[in-house]
Amino acid sequence: MADVLSSIMNSNGYASVAFNNVDFNFGSLLGDAVTILHELGHVYQYLFGQNSTAIKDDQGNADLTKANSALVKSKCFPGVVF
Ligand SMILES: [Zn+2]
Repeated sequence: MADVLSSIMNSNGYASVAFNNVDFNFGSLLGDAVTILHELGHVYQYLFGQNSTAIKDDQGNADLTKANSALVKSKCFPGVVF
């Protein structure tokens, strides 16, 4: 899954997640759930620090993006075939 969404820390202290309509909500409810949980991990990272989540900062690192999504799949949806 490409990291087609983005989570950012705003200067006002809020974290935001941007959803696009190209790859999100495009037929895979399970895929969407993985994406939301992946991005929520980044929100935790921004708001509470890296130690608050197993999701790593993957900006500009496609391999780490895939690893983050794989982690969500294995921990949140064990045994599910994607
Ligand atoms: Zn990510």
